[in-house]
Parts: sequence; structure tokens; C-alpha cells
Amino acid sequence: MTIKTIFLDRDGVINKEVEYLFRISDFEFIEGVFEACLYFHHLDYKIIIISNQSGIARGYYNENDYQKLTKWMLSQFNNNGIKILDTFYCPHDPEENCECRKPKPGMFIEAKDKYSIGMKDSWMIGDKETDIEAANLAGINNTILVRSGHLIDESNSNSKFTIDSIKQSKELIKT
Ligand SMILES: [Zn+2]
Repeated sequence: MTIKTIFLDRDGVINKEVEYLFRISDFEFIEGVFEACLYFHHLDYKIIIISNQSGIARGYYNENDYQKLTKWMLSQFNNNGIKILDTFYCPHDPEENCECRKPKPGMFIEAKDKYSIGMKDSWMIGDKETDIEAANLAGINNTILVRSGHLIDESNSNSKFTIDSIKQSKELIKT
């Protein structure tokens, strides 16, 4: 038995992109994110958040700052009736060449093994081409690039779909 999952990048997908975000006061949910997640639940998807957090290795914030923000964010989801199954993050600097930082698929593989996720039935929603690349490497073919975060190059993207924001994902994810 495997479970199907919607993987979400955090910054630019769930909340408005802010460079090296760690303050709760700087965290602003993107419009429609709760409605979209409730819809995913309705279709029996689990939701997992996967993000690069190199601000930790760079010393802009520490693990504790990250955990505090995450705890607050999860409580906001919870208040809206949404259960986030898990959150995975890479704290490393790009130069460390770790196995977890996207575009490498390490965090997706870890999640897959931990929860027996059926990757063919799962989706990735990201705002960077590295999100799409990591998902593809982990065996996720259903990928969505959103225009609500970083500037994207739509003509050079391997994403299956491109939409304005997570709000429109309902039009693509039907089963
Ligand atoms: Zn890493």
C-alpha cells in the first residue's frame, strides 16, 4: 500500500518569497493556499513540504529560528483544518554539495522511504526549476511550476504545467 502526496516547496508557493525568510512577521501566506490544501485533502492526498534552507549554513538564521517559524506555520495550517504530514529541509550551503539540496532528489527519496509514497501518483508544486528537476529525479512526473515566487523561464522549463499560483492547482489535479 502506498500513499499519494502533494509535495510543496515553501517560499514562493505557500508564502510570498522573501530572501532568507525566518521571521514570523515576514511570513505572508499566498492567497488560496488553504483552500487548495483542503482540496488536496478532499482528494485523499497527504501534504509534505520540502525546502532548501541554506540561510542556516550561511548564518543568516539558525535551526531554532527555522523550527520556530515552521511550528508557527504548521499551527496556521492546523487552524484551517489542514494537516501537513511532514516537513523536510536542507540546511546546507550549495558548496557543501550535499545529497539533500534541490535539485538533488535526496529529501524526496527520504520522504518516499519514510511513508511509502507512490511517486507516480504524487505531485510537486514549486516556483523554481530546481524543484521540478528534483521531483523528476525522484520519479515524480506530475510537476507544476507557479508564477507566484521567483521569476521563471517558462519556455525553458521541464515542468508539466505552469500556473499563476497554487490556487489554480484545482484545475489540474482532479483525481
Ligand atoms: Zn543538504
